[in-house]
Amino acid sequence: MSAQPSAATRAAAYDVVVVGAGFAGMYMLHRLRGLGMTARVYEQGSGVGGTWYWNRYPGARCDVESMQYSYSFSEELQQEWDWSERYAPQPEILAYANHVADRFDLRPDIQIDTRVERAVFDERANIWSVTTSDGKTVTAKFVVLATGCLSNARVPDIRGLDRFKGKVYHTGHWPHEAVDFTGQRVAVIGTGSSSIQAVPVIAEQARHLTVFQRTANFSIPAHNGPLSSQQREWFRKNYPEIRRFEREVARNGIYTQQPDRGALDDSDNERRARYEAGWQHGGTVFMSVYNNVLLDKAANDTAADFVRGKIAEIVRDPVTAKLLQPDNHPIGSKRICVDTDYFATFNRPNVELVDVRTDPIEEITENAVRVAGKDYEADALVLATGFDAMTGSVAKIEIVGRYGQTLNQKWAEGPRTYLGLMSAGFPNLFIITGPGSPSVLSNMIVSIEQHVDWIADCFAWMRSKGLAAMEATKPAEDKWVEHVNEVAHTTLYPQANSWYMGANIPGKPRIFMPYIGGVPVYRQKCDEVAAKGYEGFAMTAAEQRQAAAS
Ligand code: FAD
Ligand code: NAP
Repeated sequence: MSAQPSAATRAAAYDVVVVGAGFAGMYMLHRLRGLGMTARVYEQGSGVGGTWYWNRYPGARCDVESMQYSYSFSEELQQEWDWSERYAPQPEILAYANHVADRFDLRPDIQIDTRVERAVFDERANIWSVTTSDGKTVTAKFVVLATGCLSNARVPDIRGLDRFKGKVYHTGHWPHEAVDFTGQRVAVIGTGSSSIQAVPVIAEQARHLTVFQRTANFSIPAHNGPLSSQQREWFRKNYPEIRRFEREVARNGIYTQQPDRGALDDSDNERRARYEAGWQHGGTVFMSVYNNVLLDKAANDTAADFVRGKIAEIVRDPVTAKLLQPDNHPIGSKRICVDTDYFATFNRPNVELVDVRTDPIEEITENAVRVAGKDYEADALVLATGFDAMTGSVAKIEIVGRYGQTLNQKWAEGPRTYLGLMSAGFPNLFIITGPGSPSVLSNMIVSIEQHVDWIADCFAWMRSKGLAAMEATKPAEDKWVEHVNEVAHTTLYPQANSWYMGANIPGKPRIFMPYIGGVPVYRQKCDEVAAKGYEGFAMTAAEQRQAAAS
């Protein structure tokens, strides 16, 4: 038999294969174009936008203000785009992603409806072979995983789910056509950020809504509203300083007042006034009122008590109010939620809260969710059950590095990276916002741009030095992993069973995955590493590659 590849499997050579066409993949492609590198972006969805392509559930919107949750790399773009609201709704963010794709003419190099299934590194040639769901294999010098931290929707393993006769939706995989719950009995499972946004909107449509809560969550009101042209202009005029601040000053990459004291430094009255001002201002900024809320349990309790008090004021039925008050994790140790009328929704006569912490969901029948022997009937089921976060989408690709080792084998006890950017044993494979980088603890677009710029600058440097390959060294990686863990354990974060810890996925190793050191410190570290000739990375010269390959 001939070993000739068929036309369908013939290899093409790119400088870079990028996996994913969300904000990370699109900006990566733009930078690669600027370097004159050839690139192919593969996206399994039928369009660009990533998170904002998939999460079309009612009420979906960003919780970092839109004037900040947007690209900064193009002055023209940030001056010309008009955000309509303080927190833009999903369709508008998706429209923005599409605008970016068109404005920078990205689409010719993006192949949609195509999953990357496998990537294998050829050690002799320093080349990756990438196999896609259309049966083709291409080769590339570099692979960049822009696969997203929250892109692998998780369907819980609940008995009987497949028997349910009504429609089943996952918030992270919402249909493109409009879903109308009018007149229906709807069951929502989960009470994380997605549910907290969706519940108030679904409650307005549905005849009856039952919310199944395992863990009550802290949520801060968004106080969303239209943006005036003056507000937009203020941001546009001040963008140079705002963007500098996001990158160099704010731990979370968000331009906001920085705390100058701890929660216990103020008197009870002063503290209450500050929390009240934070609550009235709205959004994640509430967590920045004091500088030690995530470091000191006593300080944390003051913020948690304040929010529990607000819940008790808003929710009329005391039993429901009590159930909605989080009591098993420090505030902020699970991602703080931002809502519009979430708690008040439980005052509606058509909304019911069911506690599934004490009695987990037993099973799902043809027409109901069964808890403690009682059937809660439903016509539609909404799974707001989250994601296999940070590593889930990477793990779905079979990535084979040096010595035939797969990334899943290497990460079996938890992800190991140097700076969240590369993993030893996998040369020329880069991850955008990977585990071990600030990623999900920050304004993600700030972190995405930082990673993309670092990677693009690195490619340019490698070219200027005639290098064929680059790889994280094991000692540098070990030291970084240790540092990431050490910093995490100086905070209250590891006390919660959060997706940051992998705790939402049965069997997933309990490792705190993002880097807590903050955006400015992390950025500085990455810049220092680059300035020292990419310290902690091993380089292979092009001549070495040619010699090895011949
Ligand atoms: P994604 O947007 O997740 O894009 C990754 C893409 O890769 C996806 O389209 C996926 O289909 C594709 N992909 C994955 N694997 C493969 C494969 N094997 N082959 C081909 N394609 C693949 N962050 C904030 O900072 N502020 C917010 O307000 C905010 N709101 C959010 C709201 C929701 C509902 C969710 C789920 C997340 C939110 N986030 C927010 C985080 C958000 O994920 C990031 O802000 C950002 O959009 C991530 O961009 P990305 O390109 O890195 O990843
Ligand atoms: P999530 O925070 O992981 O919430 C999932 C919810 O489902 C949790 O309440 C979880 O309970 C529950 N759950 C899972 N399996 C269950 C089961 N078998 N029985 C009962 N309950 C179950 O997921 P998410 O709400 O989709 O949010 C994920 C992240 O995406 C957020 O933290 C945020 O970073 C981002 N996001 C942001 C926004 C925004 O406002 N811009 C909106 C949505 C998402 P437990 O807590 O007990 O595990």
